[in-house]
Amino acid sequence: MFLTISTTGSAESPATDLGFLLHKHPEKAQAFSTSYGTAHVLYPEADAERCTAALLLEVDAVALVRRGKGKGRGGAPDAALAQYVNDRPYAASSLLAVALSGVFSSAMRGVCNARPHLPAQPRPLRVEIPALPARGGPGLVGRLFAPLGWTVTAEPVPLDTEFPQWGDSRYVSLRLEADTLTLAEALRHLYVLLPVLDDAKHYWVASDEVDKLLRAGEGWLPGHPEQQLITSRYLSRRWSLTRQARERLELVRLAEADDSDVEAIDNAVGAETEQEERPTPLAVQRREAILTALRSCGAARVLDLGCGQGQLVQQLLKDPSFTEIAGVDVSVRALTIASRRLRLDRMGERQSARVSLFQGSLAYTDKRLKGYDAAVLSEVIEHLDPPRLPALEYAVFGAARPGTVLVTTPNVEYNVRWESLPAGHVRHGDHRFEWTRAEFRAWARKVAERHGYTVEFVPVGPDDPEVGPPTQMAVFRTGSAKEEKAA
Ligand code: SAH
Repeated sequence: MFLTISTTGSAESPATDLGFLLHKHPEKAQAFSTSYGTAHVLYPEADAERCTAALLLEVDAVALVRRGKGKGRGGAPDAALAQYVNDRPYAASSLLAVALSGVFSSAMRGVCNARPHLPAQPRPLRVEIPALPARGGPGLVGRLFAPLGWTVTAEPVPLDTEFPQWGDSRYVSLRLEADTLTLAEALRHLYVLLPVLDDAKHYWVASDEVDKLLRAGEGWLPGHPEQQLITSRYLSRRWSLTRQARERLELVRLAEADDSDVEAIDNAVGAETEQEERPTPLAVQRREAILTALRSCGAARVLDLGCGQGQLVQQLLKDPSFTEIAGVDVSVRALTIASRRLRLDRMGERQSARVSLFQGSLAYTDKRLKGYDAAVLSEVIEHLDPPRLPALEYAVFGAARPGTVLVTTPNVEYNVRWESLPAGHVRHGDHRFEWTRAEFRAWARKVAERHGYTVEFVPVGPDDPEVGPPTQMAVFRTGSAKEEKAA
């Protein structure tokens, strides 16, 4: 991993002042041991006109694995070998950022005891990184650095120069140039944005990462147009941390925008204390989204198709506006557990009159499914083999025809955000497929069209700017359901 920082000299400050700023003498080659290997600092050129400092990180892949810090890229079937044989020794990555902050920590903080006036002065700077992993490509590199005052040259690195037809690798060769920035600002940009571009932290993301991000992002991150992507990727998409960071950045923005806007700041502070609770499990968020949708269409008689172990039925029972609730599943075992969960045998008469559980397959039309206001298919369709889907579609939308149908299913695009999910795997062993947002929408729109429903889509869980929410929900309504509501 290799990075150079160059500057040119002026009448007030020779280029070799870079050595004072970095606290590293231009005439010496120095080595520092870090927890991942050895960082070398050397100066390929150093005179009054031009001075270049190089940071070379020799990663010890074996030590990295032994320290248990190889996490992050693993997961694929060949992960065991990939721990040792990978691009880490050659490509700039989060490790380079860590080394940067370790070796140049005073420079990053803008401290220079020998020449105290230097750190605050912007000077011509040029940063070069020959191999930078950049998920998002040269376009994203530009969107990240250009708003900060850098002139960006990012060239994709071909997979193999001998075989241009193989296309580009995920690396770019990067050159950044600016003359309006201080060295401390430049280092802080790199410290945050290199791991953001690499998008695979090689060490465990602890909660103090939020503090590190906000410290390094001071003065530039709050107003950055890609702030959302930066915080989310920097924090390895840990939702609770990302939310914490965004709320704190919002506070900074409000404080900078208008000191007198006390009410808005109070509200943001309220939000900040709330977020310290644990994030709500996705299954709970899903049930909440379903309940909200059912209430908003005014449904009283509700079918839970593929009810599984009865968690949603249990929630529905708590709300008296749902007067009749039926859970249907093909699995007798699931229904037995559901019945125990609901304590059906010990339920009072009034309650037990509201609820029924019965066995049935959604692949067949069933008279018992008729006459309901709404039906829910929560995480069910992906359990059917695709050739069986038209049968389910007909049984629900063609024959049973409730006024509202809610269908939820995983959004496969989001799978890259699950830390524990190996690349290319589905979330559950029994899932026959998982759809992208486009695939789900295409299916749902066709179903709606064939059976005279309208359809809208609602995200469930954090709606990630790049890959969307973890769960996608379609809300189908018949024309008559809409008219009833309007009446
Ligand atoms: N709705 C629940 C359970 C989802 S798991 C929830 O959101 O948590 C999927 C459920 O669909 C399982 O309980 C499974 O038994 C049921 N299922 C799968 N194929 C079915 C079919 N053809 N007919 C009825 N239920 C089915």
